[in-house]
Amino acid sequence: MLVLVANLGSTSFKYRLFRLDENGGDVVATGGYERVTDHASVIEDALAVLQKDGVIASPDEIEAVGFKTVLGKDLSGCVIADQKVIDALDGFTAVAPAHNPPYAAGIRQFEKALPKARLVALFETAFYQWTTPDYYNYAIPKAWRDIGIRRYGFHGASHKFIAERSAELCDRQDIAEIARRLYLDGPQSVSGKPFRVISCHLGGSSSVTGIRNGVAIGSSMGFSPQSGLPQNNRVGDLDSGAIPYAMRTLGISLDEAERQLTKESGLLGLSGVSNDSRDIEKAAAEGNADAQLAIDVSVHAIRHWIGAFLLDLGGLDALVFTAGIGENGKATRAAVCEALESFGIHLDPAKNAACRATEAIISSDDSPVKVIVIPANEELVLAREVYRKLS
Ligand code: AMP
Repeated sequence: MLVLVANLGSTSFKYRLFRLDENGGDVVATGGYERVTDHASVIEDALAVLQKDGVIASPDEIEAVGFKTVLGKDLSGCVIADQKVIDALDGFTAVAPAHNPPYAAGIRQFEKALPKARLVALFETAFYQWTTPDYYNYAIPKAWRDIGIRRYGFHGASHKFIAERSAELCDRQDIAEIARRLYLDGPQSVSGKPFRVISCHLGGSSSVTGIRNGVAIGSSMGFSPQSGLPQNNRVGDLDSGAIPYAMRTLGISLDEAERQLTKESGLLGLSGVSNDSRDIEKAAAEGNADAQLAIDVSVHAIRHWIGAFLLDLGGLDALVFTAGIGENGKATRAAVCEALESFGIHLDPAKNAACRATEAIISSDDSPVKVIVIPANEELVLAREVYRKLS
């Protein structure tokens, strides 16, 4: 099955074309456009290029298009991308203004450009469909809850892949199969020992997710991707009292407060150096105290959420690092795992230092909890889910 994964930004369009069968999938073509003003014409162009290059004889060969949609009002899961997906995206444009409008428009454009293809949306919130009300409710008035303000959780495609792959690496094929089929069959009861994972997706955008028997129990991200850990330039968790106080005291508007909290906060706001962890690590090593503070706050927040899920899960079998910082940041991994031996987490310093952007178990051989690095590949994860949904 040929599946096109469409990555749509407000001024960009990137794609990867995968050929999939029951054993997995390979990329057969990639491409992208920046500074896009007319998405319909670049989609047409991409299809023409694929034909000209001989990748496909006709656009009809593309059987499916996958969209990694972020947040839908009253809708989640891995679903056929039809009008109800567009309505759900439109309903939360105000919460995800950079992501929802291009995806709603992109789905419409692909309906026209590839009328025979099946369109599938995988919401980033999908993995959290089975979290419990005590977790996902905020203590806010009913009118606020009625307009959809609750914890959703994000990076679902990445964390669900970690649920599958960590189970395989820990020889729990039963759990890996449950995780693979989660969007088809829902959670399954498990006979024998539970399998408990904490997945740390640490990149430009970061979150920690607790996973029991292949199913997410919660995320450090709540209502919007603006919450949880400090992000590259987004704030992460913030006391709601701080916003009216800053607006009144600094004399700034709500729009300006929102801009500062999304563009000038997080690692950039704390360090004053950069939103890229490599620049921050370099500055910290050269003695920049603010850069060191950004690292320390970040590590503290990651450990805070690991601690929360450790308790919720009632123990741990695997602690996983993924995404840019998780895969490459050996100093971050070491700092996160420091002095956790009493919780069964024994990092092997040599294995940690040697691991860079490859899959590896980096705990000591006798560590009760396996510490694992698993590279993220969200496009492939999406293509696989589309294939599973349509097979
Ligand atoms: P992502 O959003 O997954 O692409 O991750 C982006 C983040 O990963 C950026 O903050 C990068 O600085 C970080 N990153 C990439 N390579 C490295 C590296 N070798 N060491 C530390 N951080 C890295």
